Amino acid sequence: MKLWVNGGLHDADAARVSVLDHGLTVGDGVFETVKAVRGETFALTRHLDRLTRSARGLGLPDPDLDEVRRACAAVVEANPMELGRLRITYTGGISPLGSERGDTGPTLVVALGETSRRPDSTAVITVPWTRNERGALTGLKTTSYGENVVALARAREHGASEALFANTAGQLCEGTGSNVFVVLDGQIHTPPLASGCLAGITRALTIDWTGAQESELPMDVLDRAEEVFLTSTLRDVQAVHRVDGRELPGAPGPVTAKAMRIFEERAAAETDPLER
Ligand code: PLP
Repeated sequence: MKLWVNGGLHDADAARVSVLDHGLTVGDGVFETVKAVRGETFALTRHLDRLTRSARGLGLPDPDLDEVRRACAAVVEANPMELGRLRITYTGGISPLGSERGDTGPTLVVALGETSRRPDSTAVITVPWTRNERGALTGLKTTSYGENVVALARAREHGASEALFANTAGQLCEGTGSNVFVVLDGQIHTPPLASGCLAGITRALTIDWTGAQESELPMDVLDRAEEVFLTSTLRDVQAVHRVDGRELPGAPGPVTAKAMRIFEERAAAETDPLER
């Protein structure tokens, strides 16, 4: 396995970043997970736009997108696989312990992991912890993912693959690594960005392609929605067959199944070839 660290490709076991990297010591970093199908990245430009937005939100210098593209191309080419998750990590760089971000410049790591297609449906739980819709990091894809790790572990304990958060106003927000959609009277709804959710790339494409509406949704919508589904880079559109104790038999239901079909067809035409 080869990965990219600051300007060049390295064997994974020889690749090094500093133990004083601010991304490691305080989570001062941003990231993207990009889907790579047989050597082609999906929606890379959208991911790079969001990487830049997240970096700016954290006060990091803009990433050099030419280098990031070159890194993605090199890593994908060096590690052929059917379906991969390309992970771009961009951090504040080396910083003496206890001090603010140093001046050695940021760290860029691009790595690729093999993955498999997600099942068509999954179980989710809700968790008692809230997303802060007005936090300094709201909407940024930062490496401070500890809260998601804890919530996901809780989901696994309950035989689920995702945990859903409310925001501080008690409204439905998002999952640990996905956006959430519900079907009410046949119409698809998803929480607005003001709920505090990440501006998911799969979410945006699903809204465009299915006509889903952005609506403030109370948490108890999950008790009455006809259908529920998740979106994310690696799930695409994935039906939910259980929310806490509530079974949703037959998932994917008709509306979700149609959204899955539309997404698959449109995504196949949208592949964003790497610039080599
Ligand atoms: N919300 C969170 C917190 C995420 O981490 C992710 C995935 O990375 C998403 C939503 C879904 O976003 P995307 O569709 O861009 O993968």
